[in-house]
Amino acid sequence: MFLAVVLGWEDSLINDIENMMLAQRLCPDALLVAGGIEAQFNYQTLLDKSPCKIVVLGEGEMPMTMIADGFSLDNIPGIVLRKDSIPFSNEQFWNATKNIEWEKIRYEDYWDFYIEKYRQKNDLTEERLDQIHTLRIFTRNRCPRNCRFCSSTNQLTWASGKLGVPIIDIMADQDLIGLIERIKKAHPRLRTIYFTDDDFCISKEKVIEFCKNVAAKNLGLRFIAFSRVNELDEEVLGWMSKAGFKVLNIGVESFSQKVLDEMNKNYNTSIAHDVLKLIKKNGILPFISIILITPDTELDDIEKTVDNLMPLIKDEVVVSSIAMSCIPFKGSEFYETTFDYMTDIIKIPGTIHRIKRHYAILANNPYVREVQVRFFNEINGVIERFIKERGVGHATSVNQALKRLEFMKELIAEARKKYNIKNGERGDLKRGELTASFISKNITKDKYQGI
Ligand code: SF4
Repeated sequence: MFLAVVLGWEDSLINDIENMMLAQRLCPDALLVAGGIEAQFNYQTLLDKSPCKIVVLGEGEMPMTMIADGFSLDNIPGIVLRKDSIPFSNEQFWNATKNIEWEKIRYEDYWDFYIEKYRQKNDLTEERLDQIHTLRIFTRNRCPRNCRFCSSTNQLTWASGKLGVPIIDIMADQDLIGLIERIKKAHPRLRTIYFTDDDFCISKEKVIEFCKNVAAKNLGLRFIAFSRVNELDEEVLGWMSKAGFKVLNIGVESFSQKVLDEMNKNYNTSIAHDVLKLIKKNGILPFISIILITPDTELDDIEKTVDNLMPLIKDEVVVSSIAMSCIPFKGSEFYETTFDYMTDIIKIPGTIHRIKRHYAILANNPYVREVQVRFFNEINGVIERFIKERGVGHATSVNQALKRLEFMKELIAEARKKYNIKNGERGDLKRGELTASFISKNITKDKYQGI
């Protein structure tokens, strides 16, 4: 049996979904099919957020007749079908990894391309060669941490239509080291393994066991991985160092506890400085990511992060990538709970279509918004002038990062002066002169590349 629902316009969408859920409860075995203007133009919402499994595109008579007549769904024109995914078991994940034909992948051609590029730039150091001769392995299927700006936690659960997709990994339960040895034998020039899992260090015991085994084998390889700041202590870092870990990518994100809580980062910022220094002490470079502005960020929060970050960069404790704001990634909680974005409409060349590109979630505090938009519009000019003044050779990523942070501080100081906002104050939020429309009219930048 199937049940058809025709959706007219978006204003009835929530009622329509409620009705579909009721229909599913009353007829749990029925196939739910939706059609109509709203269903066609918004089929992803319906397929992701309602029990409907098929959306009809355009006129429904023929597809509905064919569904009723039992045609194979693959042969019915004008439908979009959702089939929930089946998440991997540990064994399937391991088979998928070990059955990659690692020996046949032409890494050497890829490495040689970059070697030539850097040779031409006269920048082919040993460190560069370590970076170039890299290969990536995933050891875990997904991240369970659920940071609100990130969609990683939701990917497999939403794909499967179920909650609670288990976390599986091949770090200790399978012969990961045997696999690495096999790859190294096939590609003797290999220098670095980059474990690309969102969070390699979730299980301290497994990481230590892996590192002990690697250290005992003396593989002669370097390793890079992702970790959270609160998973690292003297013991685990000591073993990671012995195994050959050289870089840890860490989502520090902010030095404001209020912002970390808003992001659902689940760690206390008071540990960050000590852990970062401990990582460095163990001969591992912390490469930290920072997001300066979240929806509820205030001027004080940005300053806290900038003031904590600048000395760490200057003292070469960390290298940092700094994002001005959260991008509203589909599938993230921030995307689901916000709507006020810094957006551009971009034509797709060679088509009749346009894409709405959201650069950032605008902050709720209007003074932060003004800083956010000014930064977005002015930073390229600031960096271009800086490079001109310093000469290209001296404008490294480190001093450019510092320049960006200095510029952010200048903008905050100007906003404080202009609106008479002291430290610890939010400003008079009732002024109402910095509205979203004010902001959207004032977005002028067309070549912003992030920082
Ligand atoms: S930001 Fe990192 S830790 Fe947080 S959910 Fe995404 S992948 Fe996991």
